[in-house]
Amino acid sequence: MPSTPIWDRDIDRYTPAKLNEKLSIYSGESIETIESMTFRKMQKNVPSNWLDVEAITPMILSIGIHGRSRNNFGLQYCPYCLGENPYFRKHWRFAFYTYCDRHSFQLLDACQYCEEKIIPHKSERVDLCWSCNRSLSLIRPNDTNFLSLRRNQLLTVSSEGVVGCNLSIDFSTTNFLRNIRNLIKVIVEVDGGELTSSLKGKKLQYELLRVDARRKITKILEEVMAEWPVSFHKYMVGNNVTQRKFERSVFDEFIMREIDKLPVGRKVYRAYNPVVYTQELRNLKRRSKSQYRVDRANLLLKDCNGG
Ligand SMILES: [Zn+2]
Ligand SMILES: [Zn+2]
Repeated sequence: MPSTPIWDRDIDRYTPAKLNEKLSIYSGESIETIESMTFRKMQKNVPSNWLDVEAITPMILSIGIHGRSRNNFGLQYCPYCLGENPYFRKHWRFAFYTYCDRHSFQLLDACQYCEEKIIPHKSERVDLCWSCNRSLSLIRPNDTNFLSLRRNQLLTVSSEGVVGCNLSIDFSTTNFLRNIRNLIKVIVEVDGGELTSSLKGKKLQYELLRVDARRKITKILEEVMAEWPVSFHKYMVGNNVTQRKFERSVFDEFIMREIDKLPVGRKVYRAYNPVVYTQELRNLKRRSKSQYRVDRANLLLKDCNGG
């Protein structure tokens, strides 16, 4: 089916027709509407090489469907939203959503009482935990952490699939999601190990992380982007990140320029074809790729320091 939108196909891997049926019943929407609420509208914002991804779709939480069970905590929810209108919102499936953009309350990826995964089709009602049968939409009012749990969501997606961003720099390019995801990939590699101990033996991948770990990753991302490019270099240099960490990842020019200022590392090869500034460099590139990179990095650094 070449005309089938890829996001629908990907999402079909993880949300079978049965789940769509359940969502349809609970939301009162038709199955067609439910299916149209998948990530179809985001296609133009999605890097084409993501379409080849076999196992886990970048930026979409992995539920880890395995027969009737769920391996991952990939379904998150806002208890307030669930209380107002009990259905699971599409955007909660995005890995970068860790706060409700309506209530600023932190999203949960497990039952507050029994810590079980959220599996709506196994529960009596969509707003009840399938395991302990207690409400998912009640917040204990005396929770002293209550205020500290509130924060604005950094990246948002509108119902039209337009990605919004509270970062200080302009990220509104077609490669928005790819830039963000590839930066997150590096942060997960640098900091992810410390942030989660729940992944025993599993691949350390953003889409597999629990919401608490992703919240911390997002916070670091925010710091990395806060005062571009100074904050970027502060983090990368502080963690001994070299260009090597970015190989095979494609970024927009304004990020690549900063990556090129990092130490080269052991070996670099990637699809990105950097700007060649002089004929001399162009010639050098043919003779010696490694020397070319060193010279180009120096040139960029010089350029950055105002000549
Ligand atoms: Zn909410
Ligand atoms: Zn429970």
